[in-house]
Amino acid sequence: MPKNDYCSFCWRNKDEVSLLIEGKEGYICDICVKEAHKIVAAEHTRVSSKKLEPKLYTPRKIKEFLDEYVIGQDEAKKVIAVAVYNHFKRINHELKKGDAGVEISKSNILLIGETGTGKTLLAQTIARVLNVPFCIADATVITEAGYVGEDVETILTRLLQAANYDVQAAERGIVYIDEIDKIARKSANPSITRDVSGEGVQQAMLKLLEGSVVNVPPQGGRKHPEQSMVAINTKNILFICGGAFDGLEDIILRRLNTAAIGYKTGEAKVDQYKGQNPFKYAMHQDIKKFGLIPELLGRLPVLSFLNPLDKDSLVSIMTKPKNALVKQYQALLQMEGVKLSVTDEAVEFLANQTLDLKLGARGLRSLFEAVMTDTMFELPDNKDIKSVKVDLDFVTKILDSERIKHLRAA
Ligand code: ADP
Repeated sequence: MPKNDYCSFCWRNKDEVSLLIEGKEGYICDICVKEAHKIVAAEHTRVSSKKLEPKLYTPRKIKEFLDEYVIGQDEAKKVIAVAVYNHFKRINHELKKGDAGVEISKSNILLIGETGTGKTLLAQTIARVLNVPFCIADATVITEAGYVGEDVETILTRLLQAANYDVQAAERGIVYIDEIDKIARKSANPSITRDVSGEGVQQAMLKLLEGSVVNVPPQGGRKHPEQSMVAINTKNILFICGGAFDGLEDIILRRLNTAAIGYKTGEAKVDQYKGQNPFKYAMHQDIKKFGLIPELLGRLPVLSFLNPLDKDSLVSIMTKPKNALVKQYQALLQMEGVKLSVTDEAVEFLANQTLDLKLGARGLRSLFEAVMTDTMFELPDNKDIKSVKVDLDFVTKILDSERIKHLRAA
């Protein structure tokens, strides 16, 4: 085919365009390249949003998936599995029914439990099961509009970023809001003065949780005042809030005992709940007493708790989940061609140390990292080492060494 001095796609003449790129059998102009780029980008977005299509599993299936990554916490897993299942049924139901019919309200979740017991991990894993965008936000950095700090809207900025700026995908995402207990108002009585850290922030959060259209700065923050806002409807975004709720135990036990006194004519049944996790009995009214406003609680209808981790759970966390700590280090050493084995005694010892030092599950990682540092330092220069065995002797020696003393003093 003879080549001419015009674009083979739009037939614009060489003089009408800034650039004409020569191909084997024709030309393409800069205008057509730009157009083609737009088509390719649109196709990518379409394919990636297809990839983010949420999957609907039964609650049992969801729990099974959670079991692969999160140890214990069966009660919370069940509650979350059901809430999430209903959440997606609700979305599908809405798509079908249009405007008429029963309105099923959203099942945002409130999780209470000590730090490091798996609240974030649960939320993160559930997003993974469902294949939806996920982000974590910290309630303590949020401030009432107009104050220094982050605006509530920036939580959605993060979700939008996690969704690769695909608004539709973000609108079905999951947001984990950590440390929700830290924005409790300080006294159970509403204050007349403005309360920057507490109630005002709770009020600001209402509009996120209730399902409304929020204008979100796509770049986040106030540093880019020129950016045009993206409207995000939060109606189908699932919010999971978590907190340690220090002191809530007393509120729960007081209520339980008062109820028991009424029933048992004067005799408090304090011992009945001894050795149990008081969070198991938590009710919305306790959290209200703790300082979350009823409007916010009303938007977090599903309540569940996490248990403190005991030695056995810590041992399991180190060895069982798909991405367990020991498995991660085994994979790392495998890359050097070294086989890592960790004895049961060593794992148990580390679990006990973590408990003694009150480091929580997060501490397991720093402890194990400390145990492995010397080995990881030496291995790359010693190609003849083909296996490493971490046993009780190995672990105790390192934990007695100078370098780790700071962990023990903590
Ligand atoms: P929280 O949000 O309750 O403070 P996280 O979920 O962030 O705690 O837990 C911190 C880390 O500890 C997790 O990344 C995970 O490695 C580990 N972890 C905590 N609880 C569990 C659990 N139940 N099962 C498995 N790993 C856990």
